[in-house]
Amino acid sequence: MSFRLKTILGIALIELTVMALLIGINQFALGGSAATQLYQRAEATARVFANAVSDAVISTDLATLDATIATAVSSEELTYLRVKSPSGAVLSQGGEEAALAVPFQRDADFDSARSDHQIDIDLPIAVNGTTYGYIELGLSALAVEEEIAQALRWNVIVAILGMSLVAVFGYGLGTMLTRQLHWLREGARAIAGGNLGCQIHVRGRDELADTARCFNNMARTLAHDRRVLQNQQDELLEKKARVEVLVGCLRDIAGKREIIEVPDTERQDEIGDMARATVVFREAMRAIELARLEQQRLITAFDQVEEQVAIFGIDGTVLFVNAAFRSFNHALLDVLPDDFTLRSFLEEGLDQGAFPAVKDHESWIEEQLTREQGTPREIRRAPDRILLTVQSQVEGIGTVLSAKDVTDLRHSEHQLIQASKLATLGEMATGIAHELNQPLGVIRMASTNCVKRIDKGKAELDYLRSKLVRMGEQTERASQIINHMRVFGRKAEGVSEPFDLRTSLEEMATLARTQLHTQDISLRLAMSDEPAVVLGEKVIFEQVLLNLVSNARDAIEASGASEGMISIAAEFATEDGHVIEIRDTGGGVPEEFLDKLFEPFFTTKDPGKGTGLGLSISFGTIRDMSGAISVTNEGPGACFRIVLPAAHSEAEGGDEAPLSERPGLPNFAA
Ligand code: ADP
Repeated sequence: MSFRLKTILGIALIELTVMALLIGINQFALGGSAATQLYQRAEATARVFANAVSDAVISTDLATLDATIATAVSSEELTYLRVKSPSGAVLSQGGEEAALAVPFQRDADFDSARSDHQIDIDLPIAVNGTTYGYIELGLSALAVEEEIAQALRWNVIVAILGMSLVAVFGYGLGTMLTRQLHWLREGARAIAGGNLGCQIHVRGRDELADTARCFNNMARTLAHDRRVLQNQQDELLEKKARVEVLVGCLRDIAGKREIIEVPDTERQDEIGDMARATVVFREAMRAIELARLEQQRLITAFDQVEEQVAIFGIDGTVLFVNAAFRSFNHALLDVLPDDFTLRSFLEEGLDQGAFPAVKDHESWIEEQLTREQGTPREIRRAPDRILLTVQSQVEGIGTVLSAKDVTDLRHSEHQLIQASKLATLGEMATGIAHELNQPLGVIRMASTNCVKRIDKGKAELDYLRSKLVRMGEQTERASQIINHMRVFGRKAEGVSEPFDLRTSLEEMATLARTQLHTQDISLRLAMSDEPAVVLGEKVIFEQVLLNLVSNARDAIEASGASEGMISIAAEFATEDGHVIEIRDTGGGVPEEFLDKLFEPFFTTKDPGKGTGLGLSISFGTIRDMSGAISVTNEGPGACFRIVLPAAHSEAEGGDEAPLSERPGLPNFAA
């Protein structure tokens, strides 16, 4: 239903209600007063007629009575008139037949008279209190009723006219009011249809006009916003397309495809930022790729090296192991998880018996984990391998463990030591033979003398006894010389144990003196009295001493001096440890050779005489005993200084750990 129709209907309804109310009130008022007047006239007529006929009734003058009644009913208003005696007998009557035929029924008011359109009224004919009869009459109500109906008709006509006018004016008003609404609706439809540029016609200054202006403003704002949105949308679509291009680039970079150019790096917006970030990403990926290739190369290189390498992260988890490590430790790695730790590796090694048996697994593992950084250490690996291991902490990475299989090297070294010892013994053979000749000569002389005495029969028992004692002493001396040679000639066994430096020094000095004696070289040994226990292989250590003394002898010989002196000074339990210094009068080491002396195969001796291995093996032996050897020139010759850490001897009650657990010891069977 349109707003205009609603307006018209609303006004018409109001009008109808008002008119109905007015007509009702009007009709009620008009009908009421006309009925009252008619009823009062009926009563007045009855009273007038009662007076007029009272005499005729009292005198029972029926003719007068009939004439009076006839005159009275001739008026149009009276429908009938009847006079009755007090007993109810009709004395005279006149009027319309139909009205007279109906039995009399008094109407109490005008409303009860409406059924027969006449007012029925009776009145006693009384004179001085005496009732002589009754008057009954009917007064027609048709005229009054017609009057009321007429008034109603006029009222309805006026009402219809009024409503028509209201409808016309309402239509006009509705049209005027709804025109603006119509424009608003059309405008709204246009906007809904997407025409945001539409502006509606504004007329007047009323609320609708204001609404229309607001509508136009709204449409303008919407149009502006739409333009902005459209621009933004276009911009976004363009950016989306560029982003897709960059995403493609990123995908290519991530897919390791070579990207020549990243577009839009010059743009000064988000796309430019993203493009520049893509370039950074590309460079980072290139760097990562290069690093990966470098890492791959390093891994390949590490895999090529014979040395075993394992790198453990800061949390102890393995980061890398090379092929040599994998191959050597495959039995352990087969049962360990991929992310094993150094601790789990050691535990598994102990469980499988790959490491030497130890009493306390936990403290052994702790010692391995906390061992001195960068210090080479030999570890025995079952069944018969010796590994020289170095453990280093690398900042930012963790622990780098390297291990070198030195089994063959150690074997070679021992063979060299053995050869060197035999060579030394060979060199000593002359001196030793001379030394042995002396007791043998004494024994020969004594035995010859004894035989002579016996042959002459002059063999007194005392004489024979003294000779035999002498022979026994000389035999003992020879036996000692042979024993020393046997001790020096025996093979190293690869087992470290505590020994007293003093014994070694004395034994070596005794043996060396026998030879040096023939070359006019004296050997002086000065050492303190207290025990000087070290840990190592005594036989090998003595070979070091002998080698140093032999070198000193060679230097003295080479200097051309007719005699010389080798002095050994040993000071035990100093701040540094046990210190042994071997000085000679051989003129010293040329300065330019000082730092080359311990290199393998460095020799200044003639071919066939020197191997250049003596000092390098000595260096390794002392290092394996956790000690150090160095050389300086002092006074008339060279001075070799050996420093060894003190150890407790079993005799001293020291609670020594198994030898295999000791750091830095050549813990193997030769
Ligand atoms: P080799 O004795 O077979 O040459 P070494 O390793 O024992 O091998 O010694 C290396 C070199 O050191 C010798 O050739 C010698 O030149 C030098 N050298 C060793 N000891 C002395 C010393 N006491 N005085 C001077 N030079 C020495």
